[in-house]
Amino acid sequence: MEECIFCKMVNKEILIVPIYEDEQTLAFLDINPASSKGGHTLVISKTHYGNLIDMSEEDLEAVSRTIKKVSRALLKIYPGLNIMQNNGKEAGQYVMHVHFHLIPRYEGDGITIEKWVPQKYAEGQMEEVLEKIKSFL
Ligand code: 5GP
Ligand code: ZN
Repeated sequence: MEECIFCKMVNKEILIVPIYEDEQTLAFLDINPASSKGGHTLVISKTHYGNLIDMSEEDLEAVSRTIKKVSRALLKIYPGLNIMQNNGKEAGQYVMHVHFHLIPRYEGDGITIEKWVPQKYAEGQMEEVLEKIKSFL
């Protein structure tokens, strides 16, 4: 993936200071943190995958371990934490190398994480949606 900015970090063509690194994963500070106190961290798989469902089970497990490890450290510093992962531009994914956002939260942080307006299912719609999802599992 020649043009992928996160692959360039993995290959050390772009120099970053990792928070944590192992054979399969890398964690580093997001250059534009969600809040003024910083700490917004990205956890990536060193192997390039576009999104979550492309990932191998092994890499997903490795990324999960790193997320937990770094989250533990962040929660020693900040009282709250959101973990977000965007798939596709409709969901706000701009860098097409799978990554997880670890966003520290604290009182008055001024962060507005997109919040939905709760809707109601129409008669029979819930069952229809449920069956459709289950048919692809
Ligand atoms: P997305 O919107 O794709 O879920 O998130 C991509 C994230 O990557 C953004 O939060 C953005 O600030 C971060 N990012 C983009 N380019 C760089 C970079 O060169 N260095 C670092 N550390 N973060 C970056
Ligand atoms: Zn990549």
